[in-house]
Amino acid sequence: MIVMKFGGTSIEDIASIERVVEIIHSRLERHPVVVNSAMGKTTRKLLDIARFSAEGMDEQALSHLDEIREYHFDMARGLTSDFEDSDVRTTLERYFEELQRLLGGLSVLRELTPRTQDRILSYGELVATTIIAAALQRRGINARWLDARNFIITDERFTRARPLDDLTCRGIQEEVRPLVLSGCVPVIQGFIGFTRSGATTTLGFEGSDFTAALVGSALDVSEIQIWKDVNGIMTADPGIFAGARTIKNISFEEASELTFFGAKVLHPGTIEPAHRKNIPVGIYNSRQPDTGGTTITEQAKKGRDLIKSIAYKMPVRIVNITQDSHANPAGFLRSVFDILDRERITPSVVTTAGTEVAMVIDASEDMERAIEALECLGAVKIAGNKATISMVGENIRTSRDFTSILFRNLEGMNIDMSAHGASPISCTFVIDESDIPSTIARLHEAFFKNPDPDIFD
Ligand code: ADP
Ligand code: ASP
Ligand code: MG
Repeated sequence: MIVMKFGGTSIEDIASIERVVEIIHSRLERHPVVVNSAMGKTTRKLLDIARFSAEGMDEQALSHLDEIREYHFDMARGLTSDFEDSDVRTTLERYFEELQRLLGGLSVLRELTPRTQDRILSYGELVATTIIAAALQRRGINARWLDARNFIITDERFTRARPLDDLTCRGIQEEVRPLVLSGCVPVIQGFIGFTRSGATTTLGFEGSDFTAALVGSALDVSEIQIWKDVNGIMTADPGIFAGARTIKNISFEEASELTFFGAKVLHPGTIEPAHRKNIPVGIYNSRQPDTGGTTITEQAKKGRDLIKSIAYKMPVRIVNITQDSHANPAGFLRSVFDILDRERITPSVVTTAGTEVAMVIDASEDMERAIEALECLGAVKIAGNKATISMVGENIRTSRDFTSILFRNLEGMNIDMSAHGASPISCTFVIDESDIPSTIARLHEAFFKNPDPDIFD
């Protein structure tokens, strides 16, 4: 059994979906379970539409909704049999009617709550899986559409819900496994879940990778395959640095570090469920299905290069707190972390010096309440438009040259913070957002002068 997950870029038009259908068809003997996200940029578009409605801009909302309705209907027409008289058409009509009703509600209330946002975004995955299941059936594949909300059970943290492990694992085993054993190919929405009280949730943007890992782990599959528009995990984001190379093999630990530090190629939640069960994760290119891709495994070849990849995260903020002189020094750090814990904010880097603590926090985090509370402990300063850049690789652990090479190549740069040591396989520093492209190019040049052909393609 394997899980095959296809992201938005792999299912953005008729040609790419036909390619995906062939990829699945050629792997039927491995008993695939298919997970897919919304088509193309549908999630972002649904979010825009919801915001228009909540601002009372009904005309804009409806014209954009028409656009995505037409986009999906065109695809369904091109990919399924007898579309006009089919159940697929009835189902799509129903989904778009429900959406329109929800948007009407938003426009009256003039408010978009995280709960309603999740409900609206879930339609991207619901319509996509409906079309893909039908396209697979037309190709003679015994595909079965499943509603992920019957088994991906989460907490109530809308827009970034966490799956409840035991319930979700049991649900997947009860709902999905028997279908595969009876020869069906289940088609499941990524990204969405359900609370115990019956509300739709989402696992955070790019969360379909995470769904694939949860399904793969519960079913003890032999491989979790994540299909993208890139050849695998690369030495840097190819969207920002054209010279990036594909990494053939990387460890769970290295991949987890890369995603934590912002490598957008995988959702950060993907690695843990796979690692726990020691299931290899493969990242492949749906446009070039026969190229090698990246395999993530427990033990990975280290190769001779000092690092495997460079990740970046932006925009981030540096939040600096200087302790009030009359405050209790022993309790200061604990109080800072208590506040972050209460507000569920995870800094990516923390450094302390005497009476000061500096933290790097994602610019997308809502910090208002945390800052109010932190101000009771001391003076708070915030610097925005920053970015973290991280080098990751097992060889950092044992290298004596790594830091000297790194700092030699950063000469003349403005570095706000640096962190090395908390993790033995990564090193992170904070710079201005605008310096990211040139710094990645400079460090890539320095660290990948002559990449080991055993590790890099
Ligand atoms: P999908 O939504 O189809 O699953 P994404 O677009 O979310 O795929 O992820 C793939 C994108 O991740 C690539 O197009 C690339 O720009 C970006 N990316 C960032 N860092 C890396 C990296 N180290 N290796 C490969 N791709 C990366
Ligand atoms: N469709 C969702 C998003 O765009 C989930 C995903 O693509 O993984 O974030
Ligand atoms: Mg994506």
